[in-house]
Parts: sequence; structure tokens; C-alpha cells
Amino acid sequence: MQTPSPWGFTKVTSGLTYRVRYRPQSNEMSETKSIRVLVWDENPSHADMKLYPGNLRAAIAEGLNELNQNGELVVKTAHLDEPDQGVSDEILAETDVLVWWGHARHGEVADSLAERVKERAYKHGLGVVVLHSGHYSKVFKEVVGGPGHLKGGWRESTDSETIRVCAPWHPVAAGVEDFVLENEEMYGAPFDVPPCETLVFQSLFSVGGESFPSGMAWTVGDGIDPEFTSGPGGGKGQGEGKSRLFYFRPGHETYPTYLDSRVRKVIYNAVRWAGRLV
Ligand code: ZN
Repeated sequence: MQTPSPWGFTKVTSGLTYRVRYRPQSNEMSETKSIRVLVWDENPSHADMKLYPGNLRAAIAEGLNELNQNGELVVKTAHLDEPDQGVSDEILAETDVLVWWGHARHGEVADSLAERVKERAYKHGLGVVVLHSGHYSKVFKEVVGGPGHLKGGWRESTDSETIRVCAPWHPVAAGVEDFVLENEEMYGAPFDVPPCETLVFQSLFSVGGESFPSGMAWTVGDGIDPEFTSGPGGGKGQGEGKSRLFYFRPGHETYPTYLDSRVRKVIYNAVRWAGRLV
């Protein structure tokens, strides 16, 4: 199906949107695959509103749009206090990647919302990017399939966080080098989640020397054989899940983390990876 748009026309094929642009210089049509991104937060009242006048979701969306030079991402925001908690069935069906930030209001999120997100991910390939204290969100626990405990504790203190790129070949690490966030909350390993497929980033905290797997990539859902254990497996392993899930640790609501260009780059990369642009 083709519908007119200022870009030329847009066609929708099997859930992915392709924007077709006319380039007068070359008289050629080129296709740019684009994905629909929904940045959700719990509309926290405890975020620093001087840093985040539009709350966290606006800063995260701004970071994505800033890097979205080639127009691949169509970014919207939503929050907990909206109808259907910001994620109706209709909105979910029109989302390719969901970015999730929650903290103090996890309990208010409907169980059914988390179940719908899981269904959309496992059966239809919705990509999911979970940030910071979203480790305890119903959405993350449903989609990752684990309790999300921080078994090395957490601390709000004077920590800096050193982030080491462990998998420089992974698309989420593209253009990212080791970096330091001068102020962040500490999370300590072990992180109580199923093993990831790739540990992309690892963090070290300055006050207590704790470490944490701060950038983790999984595939989840249809395509994975839950019975597979190990062994030769015909070279196939457990298989690849329909949905890509990324967890990125930094993002405490009282620090300017989501204004940081390196953090923005990681989230941009994670969204592109979860949306299968790379
Ligand atoms: Zn925090």
C-alpha cells in the first residue's frame, strides 16, 4: 500500500516502514528503512526538573532525534499517566522499538501491559530497550524472564562510573569508546537475570570498586529452544529469538546522564540494533 507524504510516498511492508525519497540530484529513488520508536517513562515526580524540564522521556527522545540525521527513526514519547498508561494496543502495534524508564512507580504499571509487551516482543519481534532502574520494571522482568535483582546492592553516593566497552564489534558499541560518567548511582553485580548473549559494556564504580554488567544484549521469544542446554547442537545453539532486548544501566534521574553525548550514542545504537536496522 502506498500513501502520499511530503517525502514522496511511504509503503508499509510486513510491519516495517520504508520511506521512499526522491533525490533530484541523481534522479534516483532510494529507500531508507525507518522504525517507530516509543520512549516511555513513568512520569516521575522525583526527576531533576532543572535538568529534565520535559522529564526523562523528552531528553531521551531528544538524544535520539539529535543523532537521527538520516531519518531512520520516528520517535514518539509516552508516559504512565496517559490513557492506557501510554501504551494502548493500538500504540503498541505501531511501535517497532519500546524504550522503558521506570523507578518508583513500577507497581502502578498494569500486569496486563507487561504481558502485552512480552507478547508483542516474543511473537511479533518488538525490540525493547530498558534503562537504569527499569531493571525492576514489570516489562523488563517479563521480557527478560528473570527477577532483575541487584545482588551486589546499590548506592547513592559520590561514585563516578567508568564504562568499559567489552564488545567493540557489537553494533551497540559502534563509535563508542570507554568513558566516565562523573556522577552516577552504583549498582553492584551479580545482576539476577538470564545470561545475555553479548556483554557489550561493563561498569566500575569509584567509591566501593563494585562492577556491573551495564550493557547487555539478548534475543528473546519465538525462535529460541528453551530445552537446549549445550553440546554440539548441530552448530545451532539455542537459536535466535524474534525480539532483541538491550539493557543499559546508567540513567539516575538526578544526574545529567541523558544529556551526555556518549550515553545518547549508546541509546541510539541500542534502538537501531533492537529495531534491526543493523
Ligand atoms: Zn537510580
